[in-house]
Amino acid sequence: MSVQEIPEGIGDLAPEVQATYDDAVRLSDKVVVDGKLTSALTDETFENVNPAWLNVIGSSPRCREADVDHTVAVAKKAFRSWSRVTAKERGDLTRKLADIIEEHADDIARLEALENGNAYTTQARPELDITIEVLRLFAGFASELKGNTVPWLDGTLHYTTRDPIGVVGAIIPWNAPVWLWACKVAPAIVAGNTVVVKTAEQAPLAVLKCTELAQQVLPAGVVNTISGFGEECGKPLAEHKDVRKITFTGSCPVGRQIMQYAADKLCPVTLELGGKSPNIVMPDADLDLAIPGVITGMRFSRQGQSCTAGSRLFLHKDVADEILERTVAAMKNLKIGDPLDPESEIGTIVSQEQFDRVTRYVELARETPGAEILCGGGRPDDPALQKGLFFEPTLIKGVPHESPCAQEEIFGPVAVVFEWDDFTTVLNRANDTEYGLAATLWTRDLNHAMRFVDEIEAGLVQVNQYGAPVSNVAYGGLNQSGLGKECSLESMLEHFTRSRTVIINQGTPDPAINV
Ligand code: ADP
Repeated sequence: MSVQEIPEGIGDLAPEVQATYDDAVRLSDKVVVDGKLTSALTDETFENVNPAWLNVIGSSPRCREADVDHTVAVAKKAFRSWSRVTAKERGDLTRKLADIIEEHADDIARLEALENGNAYTTQARPELDITIEVLRLFAGFASELKGNTVPWLDGTLHYTTRDPIGVVGAIIPWNAPVWLWACKVAPAIVAGNTVVVKTAEQAPLAVLKCTELAQQVLPAGVVNTISGFGEECGKPLAEHKDVRKITFTGSCPVGRQIMQYAADKLCPVTLELGGKSPNIVMPDADLDLAIPGVITGMRFSRQGQSCTAGSRLFLHKDVADEILERTVAAMKNLKIGDPLDPESEIGTIVSQEQFDRVTRYVELARETPGAEILCGGGRPDDPALQKGLFFEPTLIKGVPHESPCAQEEIFGPVAVVFEWDDFTTVLNRANDTEYGLAATLWTRDLNHAMRFVDEIEAGLVQVNQYGAPVSNVAYGGLNQSGLGKECSLESMLEHFTRSRTVIINQGTPDPAINV
């Protein structure tokens, strides 16, 4: 890797932050394959950049087909023995994995904050808690890997099995990388599969560290992690003939491509894709709940970089002014700062590319006649935040619902606001995008709540809360937001096992055996 720079202006590093920088160097140019933190076959690398200071913190192997082939072969070999380990033992080992991740949770969270800009206190560290929880959840589900027995004709034993599939290819994004690693790896390995993870190019290190730690409890080759770019590494992984299941979280266009790669080999896919989710406030809502719900729903503490962000706000006209006034005041109070500063509530956008994309949508809104930026709209004024990819939480009002600002996933801290006065119209509007991931309604009225639940097209429907997916809450999108569920028992059974139907006829007794 190139020499690690500690940027001017950052001041003295706290010892734990220095240790995180050191860890990034230690993990540089490495993959975890066959039980070891090791060099990749390729010599090519790409830099890991800290989005808060734009300094290089490390580098990662730019794996291509050769590394994919090698790693899949390793996982395929490990599958032979791992699939024969009892389900109970696989669950026990996954529980131990959770314990190890818990021991190192602070360090992993700091590494994530350093590489992807998620604030340590409000996002990166809490992400570790839900990661540990989901590992334990799936560890406990090991006992649920059961088939059915079917009553049939006399003398016949008829049953179905729940078998592992084989090598799973897991392609993950950068926004909540450790949590998504666990959501894919835990059900896959408890069900008896082995995994090749491809990390996102913007955030490979924290996941690499988790995979390294996993080697302390899992047999070699069960969980492997490589790094690289989408077309160069993700595509050959998804297309590999020995990868028998693909689990992917990322953008819709890439999700559609993944499905095409899988089609040629008839390989099952789970796709967790984008969203443009509606957050609707009724005139009778408890505003003391709904206003904080607008902010948490928009995931401003994650810079809005969340698939489930409630990025289309539909406020009833009788309460819109009050909600906007109080929401803007609360948004201005959120502390933006270095993700590793424990006081920061909002970190940075992940990359320059993403920063430019968010800026483009805000510029488009500025150019739209009648549109108004109610809050935010760009880099904060604070002189200390001029270098990194900081972006104020932003509310935009007055763009038409057909505007790309209201139809496309911005994946940044930008929400668009609409006022409404007719419930049927607002439900139609809420459903008027290609997505169908999450949706919330704030009301005290059961009748409207039930109509909303009945008519809204979203995989995660909530009333009077805008929670994020957590363990044991089945999570997945409708329409262009994806296929399949994660985080729940059915996600393990339906997406990480295959089933055989077995019929054993007792036949006729052997007359020679007379007992
Ligand atoms: P985002 O816009 O959030 O970066 P992407 O869908 O581009 O989302 O990326 C999510 C993951 O998919 C990353 O690990 C990325 O490298 C990978 N990826 C991107 N393009 C492809 C592709 N054509 N085939 C397989 N994986 C890809």
